[in-house]
Amino acid sequence: MTEPKPPAPKAPSWKPRTRAAQAMGTLPTHDEPVTGAVVPPVHMATTYLRDPDNQYRSGYVYGRPDNATVRQAEAVLAGLEGAEQAALFGSGMAAATAVVLALGAGAHVVAPREMYWAFRHWLLDAAPRLGIKTDCVDMTDPDALRAAIRPGETKLVWVETPSNPLWSITDIAAIAAIAHEAGAMLAVDSTVATPVFAQPLKLGADIVMHSATKYLYGHSDVIAGALACARSDELWSRILAVRSQHGAILGPFEAWLLLRGMRTLDVRVRTQAESAALLAVRLGRHPHVASVLYPGLPAHPGAALAARQMTGFGGMLSIRVTGGEAAAIGAAARVELWKRATSLGGAESLIEHRASIEGANSPCPPDLLRLSVGLEDPEDLYNDLDRALRAGNA
Ligand code: PLP
Repeated sequence: MTEPKPPAPKAPSWKPRTRAAQAMGTLPTHDEPVTGAVVPPVHMATTYLRDPDNQYRSGYVYGRPDNATVRQAEAVLAGLEGAEQAALFGSGMAAATAVVLALGAGAHVVAPREMYWAFRHWLLDAAPRLGIKTDCVDMTDPDALRAAIRPGETKLVWVETPSNPLWSITDIAAIAAIAHEAGAMLAVDSTVATPVFAQPLKLGADIVMHSATKYLYGHSDVIAGALACARSDELWSRILAVRSQHGAILGPFEAWLLLRGMRTLDVRVRTQAESAALLAVRLGRHPHVASVLYPGLPAHPGAALAARQMTGFGGMLSIRVTGGEAAAIGAAARVELWKRATSLGGAESLIEHRASIEGANSPCPPDLLRLSVGLEDPEDLYNDLDRALRAGNA
């Protein structure tokens, strides 16, 4: 069904951030030739004309494997990640599972103990029924990875950095070297870092993954996922085949919304990271906060590595509340401005008692509250949390 893509038109070498700001994608400019619109169109068609001589010279055949608006958004993301290609999916989970499904039965995967809980659960619970086994290790310890690798059998090493919900930092270059030496691929969930603060492919990763639901969209209004590859090799072709066969491609309108979201990605995440850093410092002095987990704080175990491998520390942090689980749940119940909800990366700040959602195998302590810092005034965010923490100790 899938025809080879035609070569992209030659574009001037604008920087990825410039291209994202103008949603340029595959074209030198997205300015629409018929109307001169400065916003790209949405291509809704599910099927495309075949040429009279039976060819598909447009490069488009059918909407399940491919779509022009999806390609446009993929090209912007590929630019931001320094990738050869990107592929959009209907969710982050669809993107992550497509990588593993593309490995096939008999493959062995090494994943971190600390990672997005639902994907860990799928790896440990569902994937074995498909003949794919996973071992989870402390990925911040390269020796732990070395010990878990099964020579000839390990096909994929999965990394999430910074990782949920302790924001541990994994050394991508070191892990890439170990994975490659064993003949395995390295995939990095870079949802929290965003392409603004980290570019895993440049550090040796083969695939980078995003829950685009989060910062790439930035407005908590679309579920989507993305992969981007260093090389469009055989594994990448199998991933695209999984996407097509499982019907996991993102819809055209959602892809258009992603183009819109990525236009403001840079400015949003820098502001969120600035506010997160301010909150981390102030909450670190709070009498009812036992500790703050944020890779931008010098006391964080991953601080030095984060400073080396990232250009910013991101908008996510966690606090451990004095008084334990009940105090943490109580504080989350009393906030007025922070939204008590799961997810992250939106314009509104979210607070979550993470142990309530993570279930078995999670390293999340019961007194931990996860904070996704939005775009509100950080003073308001601090005051709201301060009130909520103090009220429990009045
Ligand atoms: N990876 C990370 C780090 C996440 O936080 C999430 C969702 O919370 C996912 C992957 C899964 O993405 P989605 O919810 O878009 O399927």
